[in-house]
Amino acid sequence: MKSLFIFFLFVSQILQAQDQINDTHKKAVIASVEKHQQELISLSKQVWEFAETAMMERKSSKLLADYAESQGFRVTRGVAKIPTAFIAEYGSGSPIIGILGEYDALPGLSQKAKAVKETLLEGAPGHGCGHNLLGTGSMGAAVAIKELMAAGRLKGTIRYYGTPAEEDLAGKVWMAKAGVFNDLDICLDWHPNDENKAQMQSSQAVRDYSVIFKGKTAHAAGDPWNGRSALDAAELFTTGINMLREHVKPSVRMHYVYKKAGNVPNVVPEVAEVWIWIRDAKQSGVAVVSERMEEIARGAALMAGVECEVRLNSGLYDQLINAPGAKLIHDNMNLIGLVSYTEEELDFAEKIMKESGKEYKGIKAEIKPLEVTKEYPDGGSTDVGDVSYIVPVISLRAVTTPFEAIWHSWVVVACSGMSIGQKGMLFAAKVMGATMVDLFENEKLREEIKTEFLNRRGKEVWKPMVPGDIPPVR
Ligand SMILES: [Zn+2]
Repeated sequence: MKSLFIFFLFVSQILQAQDQINDTHKKAVIASVEKHQQELISLSKQVWEFAETAMMERKSSKLLADYAESQGFRVTRGVAKIPTAFIAEYGSGSPIIGILGEYDALPGLSQKAKAVKETLLEGAPGHGCGHNLLGTGSMGAAVAIKELMAAGRLKGTIRYYGTPAEEDLAGKVWMAKAGVFNDLDICLDWHPNDENKAQMQSSQAVRDYSVIFKGKTAHAAGDPWNGRSALDAAELFTTGINMLREHVKPSVRMHYVYKKAGNVPNVVPEVAEVWIWIRDAKQSGVAVVSERMEEIARGAALMAGVECEVRLNSGLYDQLINAPGAKLIHDNMNLIGLVSYTEEELDFAEKIMKESGKEYKGIKAEIKPLEVTKEYPDGGSTDVGDVSYIVPVISLRAVTTPFEAIWHSWVVVACSGMSIGQKGMLFAAKVMGATMVDLFENEKLREEIKTEFLNRRGKEVWKPMVPGDIPPVR
């Protein structure tokens, strides 16, 4: 009964908020998202079912690219030598506003759209980060803007970026390296979440290294004096890394796993490999720790009498926050108004939280006040960071799960395949569409956002942290 009352309260708040929208273009954005609602839900559901992991998103990218084409966009496929990356563009000339769309899933998380843990397909991937909603919601916003342009009501270019491999292999970094973001004025982005808010928190910069030791094999009992153990070096290396922890800034994170450590005890290991990630608030901080890490690797190799190679696999930048951009998003979130949930959805939310062993605290429909940006971001990195060093990126988080749902888990997979997730996606589409109306119409606002971008970027120089010219296509 109580939830029914909350439901009516939400409905009346939505109606109030939408009544207050005087801007005819923003009304047209809302109408467009609502007109395409069933299509968008169906797209997100299909991507959810495909559940393709990084660089394997063949069906998902084709589905979204085909849809964009059917809506009148000019579509370029296989962007930046990545078969599952694409760009869909409409309009011409300045300003050029971009919007990011991800669609990769996570391995091993297959789950039905149910409030109890039940695998859909044993061992298969699942959308545990809600990227099926992410890519589709951004498409909904892009289509709404395209329709305003087609009607001659907005001028400029809208460009949707189909960006594969966010979870792994740094899809956007390869796209950025190919220069596809260079001519944008501003880029929009969103992510599924358990709270509605304009993005005011950054992410961590990271570098991903393989440290490979090569020694000399021998019989571990018969003639160990002829052997040089690569594993000895790897152990000395990780001991050194753990000593280093005391002498780095609190914002630094270092984590490693042993990829290779020999095969059997009676053979002196010839090869050992440690896979290590180093994170800090900025790449300049990561660089300092990386140098120490390389010295430790050389020292360990010297002690064990083996060779070592330190190989950079990839790296990501922190995400630059844009305060005027966030305020604009925040205002448009309030303008669009609160999402309402049915009794059935609230029951689903309560059940799924209990099933996952968490306390049920409801679905947070409210829009959070603008946060103060923390000096050191919480743990985690994203390839949106690299885009944010090339052009101003403004971003929002929209509720697609109950509050405090465990991320990258079956709970998020389940919610991303049903109406709680889909409602968040449609809300995000409307907010981003309305925000883009402001961006296309208001040059002063664009200038303010660009000035903030230049100030925040400061002297930190972007260079792609992915080696070579061939993306790791699978
Ligand atoms: Zn994600």
